[in-house]
Amino acid sequence: MSIIKAENIKLVYSAGTAFEKTALSDVSFEIEKGEFIGIIGHTGSGKSTLVQLLNGLLRPTEGRIYLEGKDIWEEPKKIRNVRFKVGMVFQYPEYQLFEETVYKDIAFGPGNMGLDDKETDKRVREAASFTGLREDQLDCSPFELSGGEKRRAAIAGVIAMDPDVLILDEPTAGLDPLGREALLSRIADYHKNKKNTVILVSHSMEDIAKIADRILVMSQGKNVMFDSTRNVFSKGNELEKIGLRVPQITKIMMLLKEKGIGTDTSVITVEEGLRNIVSILSDNKKG
Ligand code: ADP
Repeated sequence: MSIIKAENIKLVYSAGTAFEKTALSDVSFEIEKGEFIGIIGHTGSGKSTLVQLLNGLLRPTEGRIYLEGKDIWEEPKKIRNVRFKVGMVFQYPEYQLFEETVYKDIAFGPGNMGLDDKETDKRVREAASFTGLREDQLDCSPFELSGGEKRRAAIAGVIAMDPDVLILDEPTAGLDPLGREALLSRIADYHKNKKNTVILVSHSMEDIAKIADRILVMSQGKNVMFDSTRNVFSKGNELEKIGLRVPQITKIMMLLKEKGIGTDTSVITVEEGLRNIVSILSDNKKG
């Protein structure tokens, strides 16, 4: 059984007013437990709307969202439980830090769930370590942390709720290249260790290529592709038509192939590209 299933979703904002806007229509897909899913799409394609539907922050105008086989809106009064099970890290989550210490900020979610102090303490320390914060930073004010560390603290606050599904909306936006790389590898380690489901919305094809098992491609409120990362990036022309691109290394491999060099155009990471180019060069030497 899939962990999340979206069935014929339609979402209309401000229905019946002059501002009516259909943000999503005909969206259906299933996500298996433990998968790492990337969501890509042009600005305004419906990514944020979609992820807010998955954790019950928005209610579909039509269609159903199932979590472990159960319609999440079957009992609207219990929607809070869905929000604990499907943890959501919003864009620029550090703006939501407000407690006097980092510890208290990370402990806020577990506290809301009604966990006791001992369990909360365990969760706070584990979540801080997953995101790469040091123990001594837990006693600091969040405002003493650097930008990247604030982001980690905010993400730790969601991880501390131990959600079955973790959704991250543009988690590396605004960080410098080293900060991006560090945070992304923390997210990859978290997924590897916890083996739970992670959904990452990102503009960075390089980030998605490195980390996702499958990619859901959104365009104008519809999911136009949902396939393995390699298969999606092998459709460079189709992606370009909807304003997206393939990872730069894939593009280089495609351009080299057009020049008559026998490069492998299914390559999606720099490491794979390097291996392929080195093997072509050494074959040429031998020949
Ligand atoms: P993305 O995350 O891919 O940029 P969004 O889900 O934010 O896309 O937006 C999808 C569409 O819905 C866009 O046309 C956007 O302008 C519109 N939209 C988003 N939020 C609202 C809202 N609260 N009210 C009205 N329209 C909205």
